Amino acid sequence: MVQFNNVPLVQQGGYISVNTAFQNDISPLKIDLIYGTFRSEDGSPYLLPVVKKAEQMIVNDISSHNYLSPTGIEGFTKSASKLLLGDVEKQWKDGTIFGVQCVGGTGAIKIGAEFLSRHMNCTTVYYPDPTWEMHGTVFSFSGFSNKFKYRYLNKETKLIDFEGLCEDMSNAPIDSVVILHACGHNPTGLDLTKEQWRTVSEIMKERKLIPFFDIAYQGMASGDIEEDAWAIRHFYNEGFEFLCAQSFSKMFTMYNERVGNLMVVLKSGCNIDSLKIHFEKIIRSLYSSPSNHGARTVFKILSDPELYDEWLSSFTAMIFQAMDLRKAFRKAIEEIGTPGKWNHITDQKGMFILLHLTSIYVDYI
Ligand code: PMP
Repeated sequence: MVQFNNVPLVQQGGYISVNTAFQNDISPLKIDLIYGTFRSEDGSPYLLPVVKKAEQMIVNDISSHNYLSPTGIEGFTKSASKLLLGDVEKQWKDGTIFGVQCVGGTGAIKIGAEFLSRHMNCTTVYYPDPTWEMHGTVFSFSGFSNKFKYRYLNKETKLIDFEGLCEDMSNAPIDSVVILHACGHNPTGLDLTKEQWRTVSEIMKERKLIPFFDIAYQGMASGDIEEDAWAIRHFYNEGFEFLCAQSFSKMFTMYNERVGNLMVVLKSGCNIDSLKIHFEKIIRSLYSSPSNHGARTVFKILSDPELYDEWLSSFTAMIFQAMDLRKAFRKAIEEIGTPGKWNHITDQKGMFILLHLTSIYVDYI
C-alpha cells in the first residue's frame, strides 16, 4: 500500500531556501535581494500608479464574475502580442498568430511545454547555462526526458561564450526545443548582439530547432520596449514557427496577479481551430480557465491611449532609475577600493546584477 510517509524526502532549494534563511536572519543590516521586484526608497514593494488607476476603472465596470474561456481574454492576448511584434491585425485574422492568457510567465512556459510534449512529441529541451531556475523543472515536469544546457556565460571573461553557444546549438538534435531569453537574460544580464541573434537564427533554421522565447523583462534591458523585442521580431521575419512566453509581472509591477501570455506563431496552412482546442484541453485539465482581474487591468492599460502613455513613461522612468542605481553601485564599490574589476556591473543589463562572487566571498560578507 502506498503511504505518505514513503514519499522521498526533499530539501528546499533555490530562491525559497535563500528566502527562508533571510527570514531567519536577525541581522539589522539584511537587505532582501532575492525576488526581482521593484522597491520604493524605503524598500517596500512599488506599485505603478497607473495600475492602481486602471484597477479602479475596471472595478467600476465589472457586472459579473462569469467564467472566462480557457484561453482567456482575447483582447488582452492580442494587445500583449502587439507589444511583441507590432501590428498583428492581419495575422490575428488569418490565425497565424494567437495568444493564450496564462498564469504569469511561468504559466505560459508550462502551457507551452505541455503542448510541445503532448502534441508535438518533443522530448528534448536546451536552455542556457545558467538560466532562470525554473526552466529545467517546468520542462521535466511536462515530460521532457532530455534536458541539456547550452553554453552561455564564460565565467572567466564574464561575457557570453558565443562560440560555445553556437557549438552546442549546432550539435542539438532536430526538433529540440531551445529556450531563448529575448532580453535582460536572467541571471547574467548579458544579451546577444543583433549580429549574434542572426547567427543563432541561422543555426536554428539549419538544425530545425524549435525556438521558445521567454520574455519577462521587455523594456528593462535597453529602456525601449521595441528594441528589447528585436530578437523575437527577427525570428518572426525569418519565418520561424515558435512560442513566446510573456510575463507582465515586472512590466506592470503586478507580481501576484499572475498575468502572462503565450504567443503562438504559426505558418499558414495549420489547422488553427484544432490547435486552439488542444490548448484549451491542457488548460481545462490544469485550472479550467484563468482569472480575470490582472489580465483585464493590463488590457485596460494597453488599450487606452492615455493610460498606455502614462504606463510607458512611468515604466521607462523606473527602468532608467534602475540603470542609475547600477552606476551608483559600481561607483560605490570602486570608491572604497574593492579589489578587482567591476565594469561587469554596468555592462550587464536589465534586472540582474551577477557579481561573480564565489561562496567564500558571499559567506564573508
Ligand atoms: N522567465 C524568466 C526569465 C523570469 O525571470 C521569470 C520571473 N522571475 C519568469 C519567466 C516568470 O515570470 P512570472 O513571475 O510572471 O511567472
